[in-house]
Amino acid sequence: MNVQRDYEALVQQGLKLDLTRGKPSPRQLDLSEDLLRLPTGHTAADGTDGRNYGNLQGLAETRELFGPLLQVPAAQLVVGGNSSLTLMHDTVVHALLTEVPGAARRWIEAGEITFLCPVPGYDRHFTICERFGIKMVAVPMTADGPDMDVVERLVAADAGVKGMWCVPKYSNPSGIVYSEETVRRLAAMPTAAPDFRIFWDNAYAVHHLSERPAELADILALAEQHGNPDRVFVYGSTSKVTLAGSGISFFGSSPANVAWFLANTAKQSIGPDKINQLRHVEFLRDADGVAAHMRKHAELIAPKFEIVDRVLTKELGGLATWTSPHGGYFISLEVPRAREVVAKAKAAGIALTPAGATHPYGTDPDDRTIRIAPTYPDLAELEQAISGLAVCVRLVAEQG
Ligand code: PMP
Repeated sequence: MNVQRDYEALVQQGLKLDLTRGKPSPRQLDLSEDLLRLPTGHTAADGTDGRNYGNLQGLAETRELFGPLLQVPAAQLVVGGNSSLTLMHDTVVHALLTEVPGAARRWIEAGEITFLCPVPGYDRHFTICERFGIKMVAVPMTADGPDMDVVERLVAADAGVKGMWCVPKYSNPSGIVYSEETVRRLAAMPTAAPDFRIFWDNAYAVHHLSERPAELADILALAEQHGNPDRVFVYGSTSKVTLAGSGISFFGSSPANVAWFLANTAKQSIGPDKINQLRHVEFLRDADGVAAHMRKHAELIAPKFEIVDRVLTKELGGLATWTSPHGGYFISLEVPRAREVVAKAKAAGIALTPAGATHPYGTDPDDRTIRIAPTYPDLAELEQAISGLAVCVRLVAEQG
């Protein structure tokens, strides 16, 4: 076989390509260029002067626009700054330092605490746990979401299990959408900890790649129906709707949790950037406006997902498996000896997210998962990068 020769030729090309992070491309950012000329006024519907301090929870019109998209009643939604990751980080800190509703004590006084981490998952969730010394336990994913038999067993057995990370729709990195049954079981399951919380990071709620948007069951409503109204913290943002560095973020939960959250954030801020909220409402207008805008994103990025699928099918059929998601930002590629593949790609100038990043503590026990982020490069660069990656997979397989 001449895979060694193919690899040498690849290295000779001196590529410099980056598939590491799920960033929108410049053309996607251009879709929101008009935001830079908005808002045309600074007065909110209720007369609030958007330029001034105040309104910690966010403007009503912003909450009314985004609440339904995140399946959170507008009255229970909080609008934050540009990063939902900040809201997740800060919620963990608040829970460590101030009893969440239903808790006997602050998490910092609760002994060893554990978060369940469906794998493959989002590395920045795991970094938050590492930062605060929260133990992580990996839970395997199935095609319907986390393996619920495992989850139910773990949360019932140990009151130290206080949290669980979930990316329920078009999951990072597998693209999996949690089934209705999974969501119902998460909402209903008995937990040993009365203060157990699900961190429901719905980052890709409206990020469909096809004309058939996936449906996600309403976890806040289900949790309430099953007598666990305070179980779920919902997050989202417009980072991949409008401008990744200048969007708005959201926290949604039960009335008790929202009151707890706002009591804590009141010590951090006198109020959020309401001009940006007005700008977003004026630009996106309503749910149809968001859907139309997201279709323009899909027109730009669906072809990128198709290229990855086409090249991998042509070059690797049988040697590897990968996901073909219907939304979100990532493809998850499963190969033998992922670490070595990523190292070979790096040596050929193709930067990939480190193998293992999709697992707690950066360790993928099976050394199989590679996260592919296809959105940023242009089509030609992406094709080059994936073809090069396929050469690396074949090389490592042959050396096996
Ligand atoms: N959650 C998930 C699952 C993500 O993939 C990302 C971005 N890669 C984020 C959160 C970050 O969101 P934000 O920009 O709102 O901080």
